[in-house]
Amino acid sequence: MKQTVRFGRISGVEVGANWSLIVLVLLVAYGLATAVLPELAPGHQAGVYWVIGIVAGLLIAGSLLLHELAHSVVALRAGIPVQRITLWMLGGVSVLGGEPASPRTAFWVSASGPLTSLGLGLGSGVLALLLNIAGAPQLLAATLVWLGVMNVFLAVFNLLPGLPLDGGRILRAALWWRTGDPNQAALSAGRAGRVIGVVIAAIGLAEWVTGRYTGLWLVMIGYLIVTSVAAESRTARLRIALDSTPVAAAMSVPPLTAYAAMPIDRFAADVMTRAHDARDVVFAVVDLDARPTGTVSLRRLARVPVDQRAGLTVGAVQRPLKDVPVGHPEDQLADLVVQMGSGSDELALVVERDGRLVGVVHGYDVTRLVQLAALRPSGQPTTSA
Ligand SMILES: [Zn+2]
Repeated sequence: MKQTVRFGRISGVEVGANWSLIVLVLLVAYGLATAVLPELAPGHQAGVYWVIGIVAGLLIAGSLLLHELAHSVVALRAGIPVQRITLWMLGGVSVLGGEPASPRTAFWVSASGPLTSLGLGLGSGVLALLLNIAGAPQLLAATLVWLGVMNVFLAVFNLLPGLPLDGGRILRAALWWRTGDPNQAALSAGRAGRVIGVVIAAIGLAEWVTGRYTGLWLVMIGYLIVTSVAAESRTARLRIALDSTPVAAAMSVPPLTAYAAMPIDRFAADVMTRAHDARDVVFAVVDLDARPTGTVSLRRLARVPVDQRAGLTVGAVQRPLKDVPVGHPEDQLADLVVQMGSGSDELALVVERDGRLVGVVHGYDVTRLVQLAALRPSGQPTTSA
């Protein structure tokens, strides 16, 4: 999910929102202003309901943020890097930069979010009760009650036992703890998630065709669950196939690298005479000290207009290093591959500890290793390149 606005950093985590969060805030405001509040606390002007509705929408966004922050803080404490939190119209997304090391850690990272929502829900309820006793305006208490109910609902919904929901991650942690196998546990929790996603989408569809347009929301959530499960199951199957294969097993020494300072037309001429492997669609870009600066694909080079190719260097059009997966020869190959995309011009760079390029990992090589692993009787991948 793309961050359209960035709010800043909290505990080192980049926090932001996608523009679609506005849709969520407005839908919440609409529901409260036109139906919920006039019923719970009648006798106010429409404008008052709308103002409170929008404030409540923002408070819901804040609740989602606290839910995600709880996941992040527990992950950071366990030594798992957290890249960013993004809020959007269907909730919040925390992007973690690694996997929990134990089922216990996995459990607490997952459980912290719903526990926070539950706490917020109960807190709002108690506050509403106290305000009611103290004789505060009915409108304020009604809004707090609604906010509490929403947070409890958020906790319960997220505890449904299927990936990618928090409940699915808790289920995965439990299966991992029982069997010792995190990847098979992910596949099982994924199957449960697919069923949950399909059921939610079906309920949404039924609502939609019977004229309740909020059903569309459920259809989107169900679809999102099913597609997320597919991606997570792919990763689990990849980790099973590659097992503990090191990066070195899939590494090849590139026959052709591009110098960052070389004009594009000269490199293009080089490619045309010297490249004849199917993998020569993407190249490592290095500086004169053989330190990688990025990668460049034929597709990327071809996008540069012909009359600009003599004046522009390869380095000027490369995919910069910060966007390229980089690993060390002794790292786990699966960790590197998870960062790679699936296109034919995907390339990961392999560097020594001193930062010098020693090889590359092509999508092709990974596919070959995964398919070989499936052929071997033991189901174990080969570890010789
Ligand atoms: Zn969560």
